[in-house]
Amino acid sequence: MEKRKLVVANLKMNFVYDEIKSYILQAKKEITTSQVVICPTSIYIPYFLQGNYALGVQNTADDSEGVYTGELSPKQAYSMGVKYTILGHSERRIKFNEDDLMVNKKVIEAIKHNLTVILCVGETQSERALRKTEQVVKRQLINCLRGLEYDMFHNIVIAYEPVWAIGSNITPTVEDIIGITNYIKNAVSSSYQYENIRVLYGGSVNEKNIRELNSINEVDGFLVGTASLDFQKLTKIINVVTY
Ligand code: PEP
Repeated sequence: MEKRKLVVANLKMNFVYDEIKSYILQAKKEITTSQVVICPTSIYIPYFLQGNYALGVQNTADDSEGVYTGELSPKQAYSMGVKYTILGHSERRIKFNEDDLMVNKKVIEAIKHNLTVILCVGETQSERALRKTEQVVKRQLINCLRGLEYDMFHNIVIAYEPVWAIGSNITPTVEDIIGITNYIKNAVSSSYQYENIRVLYGGSVNEKNIRELNSINEVDGFLVGTASLDFQKLTKIINVVTY
């Protein structure tokens, strides 16, 4: 059976309310499938409800409630109709010092509260130059997925996002994407006996390169940052991936 590919739009910390209103109207009118996951800044989640897309948040805490000023718990997100959470994004790792241990706690807490985790992994430019891509990805997978039971893998999607490709307009070669995607699938299957892990590609996906990237059968969808801020560009990507 062919798996339905995902398009995840990571809007990051963009748009003031007046700017996002028309985006929301277009999304509600034009997106007709839950294969598309919109991840707005969480303050806008209530306005995005009642669309045919799925909703995600860009981060959730490692606990469900309590004295955590400024945090958003997976339990709260789920209670608002959110289905996905992006965890381990390189911007969180680099700018907010999140390490694999923290990401692991967040992954477990999110799955406990019924969210599907989009777990980001990927090497930096210098790690790539040292040919350490597989080593880094393996470390991130082992550490971030530690303690997960078999059934929890139904609620995990891995996003391979090379840090150097994010926002840079540079993507890895098709061969490199196929190689690392297979590596991730084999690593999850041999360590956890889970055969159906979905692996997305993220990093400078846009309306121009999506046809080529979408031709990679091994890839189960895309995490899109910059291009998802322009609804017309996002629509072009969605049309190619979900046709
Ligand atoms: C991202 O940050 O998850 C991302 C994929 O960004 P961009 O598409 O801008 O490279």
